[in-house]
Amino acid sequence: MRRKLIAGNWKMNTNINSANELVSSIIEKIEGREPKSELLVCPPFTNLSSVNELIKDKNISLGAQNCEYRDSGAYTGEVSVEMLISVGCKYVIIGHSERRQYYGDTDEIINLKIKQVLKHNLTPIFCIGETIEDRNSGNTFKVLENQIRKAYQDIDKNDLSKIVIAYEPVWAIGTGVSATTEQASEAHTWIRNFLNENYGKESSNIRILYGGSMNEKNSFDLLSCPDIDGGLIGGAALKLESFISILNNAETTYKN
Ligand code: PEP
Repeated sequence: MRRKLIAGNWKMNTNINSANELVSSIIEKIEGREPKSELLVCPPFTNLSSVNELIKDKNISLGAQNCEYRDSGAYTGEVSVEMLISVGCKYVIIGHSERRQYYGDTDEIINLKIKQVLKHNLTPIFCIGETIEDRNSGNTFKVLENQIRKAYQDIDKNDLSKIVIAYEPVWAIGTGVSATTEQASEAHTWIRNFLNENYGKESSNIRILYGGSMNEKNSFDLLSCPDIDGGLIGGAALKLESFISILNNAETTYKN
C-alpha cells in the first residue's frame, strides 16, 4: 500500500519566529506518535534551516517550494538543489500553478527542474492541474496529459516512480472551493491509468496527492479515495489544528 503524504505548502507566509513556532506546535501534537502517513512541511527558503533544526529526529520531512535547474553560478536570486540539500530538504515542489502563472515556469522549465531534483536524489512534487476554462470546455484530461508528457520528457523510466504528483485544479487553489470527491477521484484515477498505460507498471507505486482547498472537513472523504495518496495543503497547513485534523483524517483511512 502506498504511504500517504500530508504536505504543507506554506507559500510566502511565516517569518523565522512564526515558522519555528508553527513547526514546534506540530511537533508537540505528534510527539510520541508514529503516524502511518508521512508528514512534510515546505516553509519559505529563509526558514528552511531553522525548521530543519527543529524537526531533526522527528517524524517530519522538509521540502522547498521551488528550485533552480542549474547547478551553480551567476543566477542572482536563485536557490540550487545542492543548497536545499545542505539545509535538510528531501522534497521540492515543482511547477506549482502559482509558479506557472506568475513566474514563467513553463512545461520545459519544469522538466529541467524535475531532472535536476532527481539528479540529486531528492523527490520532486510535480504539480499539474486544469484551469476552470479548461474544465468547462472539456479539456481537463488533455491538459493533464500535456503537462505530464512534457514534464516527463527524457526522464529515465526508473526515475519516474520517484516523482510524487500533485493534482491541483487551479480553480480550487486558495479559493475555498475544493474539487468534489467525485471530481478529484475521477482525475486521480485518470492520472493513474494514464501513467500505467504510458510509463509502465512501476507507476502503480507513484503517490498522487490532491491539492486545492483541502481542509479538516473535506479531507477524510478525499483521502479515502483509493487513488488519492495524500494532500498538498496551502491555507489549512498554516493553521495548526486544521493541519493536524487533516493528518488525523489521513490516519483513519488506512485499512489494517
Ligand atoms: C497549494 O498551495 O498547493 C494549495 C492547494 O493551496 P490551498 O490549500 O490553500 O488551496
